[in-house]
Amino acid sequence: METYQQFIDGVLVDSHSPEWIEVENPYTNEVIARAPRGDAEDADRAVAAASAAQPGWAKRAPVARAAYLKKFADAIRAHRVELARTLASEQAKVLPLAQVEIDVTAEYFDYYAGWARIYEGEIINSDDPRENILLFQKPIGVVAGICPWNFPFFVMARKVAPSLLAGCTTIIKPSSNTPATTFEFARLVASLDLPPGVLNFVSGGGATLGKALVKHPEVDMVSLTGSVEAGQEILRDAADKVMKTSLELGGKAPAIVFGDADLDIAAKGVTDSRLIFGGQVCNCAERVYVHASIYDEFVAKLKASFEAAAFGDPFGDPTPVYSSQIDAAQLEKIDAMVQRAVAAGAEVVTGGRPADVGTGYFYEPTLIAGATQDSEILQKEVFGPVLPIVKWDDYDQVIKDANDCEYGLTSSIFTTNVNTVMQAVKDLNFGETYVNREHFEGIQGFHAGWRKSGIGGADGKHGLYEYLQSQVVYIRY
Ligand code: NAD
Repeated sequence: METYQQFIDGVLVDSHSPEWIEVENPYTNEVIARAPRGDAEDADRAVAAASAAQPGWAKRAPVARAAYLKKFADAIRAHRVELARTLASEQAKVLPLAQVEIDVTAEYFDYYAGWARIYEGEIINSDDPRENILLFQKPIGVVAGICPWNFPFFVMARKVAPSLLAGCTTIIKPSSNTPATTFEFARLVASLDLPPGVLNFVSGGGATLGKALVKHPEVDMVSLTGSVEAGQEILRDAADKVMKTSLELGGKAPAIVFGDADLDIAAKGVTDSRLIFGGQVCNCAERVYVHASIYDEFVAKLKASFEAAAFGDPFGDPTPVYSSQIDAAQLEKIDAMVQRAVAAGAEVVTGGRPADVGTGYFYEPTLIAGATQDSEILQKEVFGPVLPIVKWDDYDQVIKDANDCEYGLTSSIFTTNVNTVMQAVKDLNFGETYVNREHFEGIQGFHAGWRKSGIGGADGKHGLYEYLQSQVVYIRY
């Protein structure tokens, strides 16, 4: 069993707290590692290190900072197989998907390294012919990056890569469910020559260590990926300091299938989107609206693909579509939502209950029909392999229903008519819309939610500028 230490000021050190987080493999239910259940003192130490390192890090040329991102990418690639196995073990992510997450993370560091010579300030026209106005982009300072359990490695990089490139120094807090892959990376970072304090990793509870990071006077920005509730609490704490926050929160993505859609593409897109990683993905289809003219045919296709989806051992050969949910609490939450939907009058088309696989926390691929627009199953994030289906026949109504949601992260449409595409893209109020494909974003895009799905966002140019603040200089000559 691995035992991890905090990584503070360039050194792997014992936590101030004597308590431990036990990391369970959700599929085998075995404890595979332990990580520190750090406390406010760990937060203080990490912030002190990041704060001391920040001015020196910001003085380096962006290209010099980028050199370290390339080293991170190289170190990840050199250990890609072991890292994927750790990831697959700590969260029951099927091994090929865990491998994709590791490989994309290496690419992500390379991608942001490439921005060193690209990001820029501005020269603004002055009203005075003997004046220049210059807008510089400067790092925000010390960043606390707080991560969820579902894509713990990739989301870690989503915070580290742009913040370090921008000249910020960073403290990462992994989720208590999934600290192992992050600490494996910390060990790799410890073997590189990164200046001490530039990047720190500390584990501990959200309400304790996490809160201490957020409230610390020397933390200048918090980037959270997590639930709406955590985002709201962080916003409240940030208000005291009037601190910059970047929040990537939950989603309830609608998929709209039009009567002229290619039904095979649509059924595959929606199925893959809902069942990947057992539905524990923020941006994937959480509800599908199907045109009445193709409703029966489409539901039959979805039913067939849901019933064909194998689930089991994340290391299994052949690879199942998905494995265990992250823990017992998630499984119970999913089942309770399905049972409440049925009690409210909805009908289970397939699935609808936990699956007995011996070990792990499995839920059957589940389709639900007949839920009303205002019902919990159509309004709240399930985060499991459960998809409510709604029949529609009026365009204005389906757009209204799709937009009628407190979340605004992603959405998708399936149609072969370009006019429908352009109209629906205009009418949908979401940070992302996918057309004729499932929900996965590009490194160079901008993943940002509307409404309660968040503030700010990640990836691409706009994701980098999240970690920069402007200084405007007026030069009279
Ligand atoms: P969570 O909110 O329970 O925890 C996320 C992180 O926040 C953890 O590290 C936790 O310890 C920490 N935390 C909680 N309360 C805190 C506080 N008051 N102060 C500081 N830190 C605190 O979320 P989770 O269960 O780990 O992740 C699942 C959620 O994340 C889902 O809602 C999902 O939609 C969302 N998510 C969103 C995105 C996105 O890009 N929008 C990506 C992945 C996951």
